[in-house]
Amino acid sequence: MSDCIFCKMLTGDIPCNKVYEDDQVLAFHDIAPKAPVHVLVIPKVHVASLYELDEVSTPYAHAMISKAPEIARELGLAEGFRLIANTGEACGQTVHHMHFHILGKFNDTGDTG
Ligand code: 5GP
Ligand code: ZN
Repeated sequence: MSDCIFCKMLTGDIPCNKVYEDDQVLAFHDIAPKAPVHVLVIPKVHVASLYELDEVSTPYAHAMISKAPEIARELGLAEGFRLIANTGEACGQTVHHMHFHILGKFNDTGDTG
């Protein structure tokens, strides 16, 4: 998708602070972190949201989930993390290239603030 900022990160047209990459996923720090650790995991195929998953993109979604704990450990989140996919504008999705938020290192109450 030519107007998709996450696709532009995949092509290198928009820089990102990369933390992990393989043949199916890219993970990078969120530009406006909502927690002390806030990383986005995206598939290397354009799919708008979980609602649009098809036979091509579903294996990428599986890879994103299965890689998330490995990425979280690398980020120092062995004590725990949150994995969130805002799906649809009504529930906060602002970038329409499916992604998971990995969030961690909250305060002692677990309050996200
Ligand atoms: P959503 O609101 O769609 O669930 O999440 C989109 C996320 O992308 C937001 O947390 C936002 O801060 C992040 N984001 C938007 N534009 C950029 C960007 O250019 N670079 C990075 N690293 N993150 C971005
Ligand atoms: Zn895209």
